[in-house]
Amino acid sequence: MAIKDKIVIITGASSGIGEATAKLLVSKGAKVVLGARREERLKKLVNEIRQEGGDAVYLATDVTIAADNHKLVELAKAEYGKVDAIFLNAGLMPNAPLSKMKTDEWNQMVDVNLKGVLNGLEAVLPEFTRQKFGHVIATSSVAGIKVYAGAAVYCATKWAVRALMEALRIESAQEGTNIRTATIYPAAINTELLGTISDKESAAGYNALYEQYAISPSSVANIVAFALEQPDNTNVSEFTVGPAAQPW
Ligand code: NDP
Repeated sequence: MAIKDKIVIITGASSGIGEATAKLLVSKGAKVVLGARREERLKKLVNEIRQEGGDAVYLATDVTIAADNHKLVELAKAEYGKVDAIFLNAGLMPNAPLSKMKTDEWNQMVDVNLKGVLNGLEAVLPEFTRQKFGHVIATSSVAGIKVYAGAAVYCATKWAVRALMEALRIESAQEGTNIRTATIYPAAINTELLGTISDKESAAGYNALYEQYAISPSSVANIVAFALEQPDNTNVSEFTVGPAAQPW
């Protein structure tokens, strides 16, 4: 199905993968509803999109707050009348070995990467179930299909996203709700993600890795568009995407 006129909510839209996806989908005629905490960044992005003739709105959103996710869905309905798809993409990666006991960061990753996805689902699933269509796309990570030392909690949250999305796909088919799912597992993508790492040794390692390999977030945006472009009766659900040169 064409992306034109699809109403797509994107969380984590203020930078990186979310921002690149917003721009790509708008260029294909989608109307996007953008959420993240940094309101100034969202405002700037929406202004840019509108100046180029695209259609977008934003709302300052913290995905860890259930009510914020509901407000984002309400905004989409108020502006555009419905929601066709949600891209649950907000996340952070303050990686460090478990022995460093960065427990606040463990909790933050669970709250954003896992509970944030659950909060998004809570807000949108009643709509999708009622209208009997809807597309849920989530950003997991290659850390959601493999385990990396120094990334234990991040891996745990991203494996959890994979499990949730797979269960949603199966339940939707069983319940006949036509809710489709796609889960994306990126490797090194050049975004602001490494800025969330507080552990100096871990940061140095990731910076070196990303300097060597990282590719543009548009590579991930292309996957989101591909999933959205499938016919209504077709679900494409699992995508790894990363630098051709990176042995992830
Ligand atoms: P960025 O840091 O550029 O983007 C992260 C986005 O998440 C920002 O828009 C940020 O916005 C948002 N975010 C963080 N916390 C919250 C919150 N509490 N509420 C709402 N939004 C929040 O990195 P990426 O674009 O790389 O990250 C996007 C996703 O991709 C993440 O889930 C990440 O785990 C995943 N990923 C990234 C990879 C990479 O190599 N870059 C590889 C594999 C997966 P704000 O701060 O304004 O709230």
